[in-house]
Amino acid sequence: MQPSEESLSVNLGERSYPILIQDGALGNADLTPWVSGNRVLIVTNETVGPLYMDQARACFPGCDIDEIQLPDGERYKNWETLNRIFDTLLEKHHTRKTTLVALGGGVIGDITGFAAATYQRGVDFIQIPTTLLAQVDASVGGKTGINHPLGKNMIGAFHQPKVVVIDPLTLNSLPPAELSAGMAEVIKYGLIRDADFLAWLEEHMDRLMALQAEDLKVAIRRSCECKAAIVAEDERESGVRALLNLGHTFGHAIETHTGYSEWLHGEAVAAGMMMATDLSERLGYLNYNDSTRVRQLLIRARLPVNPPEGMTPVHFKALMQVDKKNLTGELRLVLLKELGDAVVTSGFDDEALEATLDYFCH
Ligand code: NAD
Ligand code: MG
Repeated sequence: MQPSEESLSVNLGERSYPILIQDGALGNADLTPWVSGNRVLIVTNETVGPLYMDQARACFPGCDIDEIQLPDGERYKNWETLNRIFDTLLEKHHTRKTTLVALGGGVIGDITGFAAATYQRGVDFIQIPTTLLAQVDASVGGKTGINHPLGKNMIGAFHQPKVVVIDPLTLNSLPPAELSAGMAEVIKYGLIRDADFLAWLEEHMDRLMALQAEDLKVAIRRSCECKAAIVAEDERESGVRALLNLGHTFGHAIETHTGYSEWLHGEAVAAGMMMATDLSERLGYLNYNDSTRVRQLLIRARLPVNPPEGMTPVHFKALMQVDKKNLTGELRLVLLKELGDAVVTSGFDDEALEATLDYFCH
């Protein structure tokens, strides 16, 4: 693969936007071309703010900048915290010409994007994702939202950013488990649509886990290209976008079973992808060697390849039936036809699924 150029674009007609990927972008890039008025509200949290707020401010020379620091955590992705953003916007008299800037991981990106989608019926926003997961997944594609006590991401809107600015150097301060969690989604892109990228990841995984800057840029860029292509084809998830859910139905069952507290999303997705791989092998799509490749790659990214101890087939079946991707009452899963090619289907043998669940639950 070629060394990365510094930008690519998400092609959505008049809602198209660039993704800039550049070491040191935070602090050095001039983002004022994407600010239509001259007012900006930077939204971050108490962990990321102290690390990167000064650099983020430097990206908006000449602008009138306000900032708000939210508490850190998925449990704050809710109405109450959203309202704090609206309180600040109203108290400081921000108009429809303001621009919101999300500085942080996917939680900050989702809540800030939703605030931008709804404040005065919609204002501009810019994504500056600082976790690997947000850089390769959450910041691209325009899904925004918050959680409801009865369900994750249940309140939201589609609202595309004006630009996504990725500074891979921010990953240097990321906790290692969060790096692995993001890597699960990177591996996912290889599995669902890009066998060459998968092979490249196998060659470079150790360097990626050691935060080798050039390789990280290539991996982030290729991941964003995959996500951008899928989103451009299916902005509102009526078709191919569902392939992004590889491992997620099994993964959501794990996350729900463990109360969204012990397992990071990417960790649950990793175990889920391994289960989907196993089922694909039982159905005759993949061979043993393919499954071994997937398992080895996940292990090298320091990700789990088995569900938590004590989880049974009965747990899985109950939790998978309520997954929100299950639209028609039939269980639909993303399976691999081969490495680099996925399909969404309900046309699989129940006995094969039983065998996969029995194999993984002991
Ligand atoms: P997160 O936002 O909670 O960030 C993980 C942790 O890392 C947090 O404690 C955060 O403060 C910290 N952090 C962030 N950047 C850091 C840095 N550079 N250095 C040190 N610490 C840093 O989690 P996440 O994995 O980034 O995002 C998960 C969220 O994204 C979930 O709410 C999920 O629903 C959402 N999501 C959205 C989409 C989408 O399409 N909109 C896609 C995937 C996930
Ligand atoms: Mg995911």
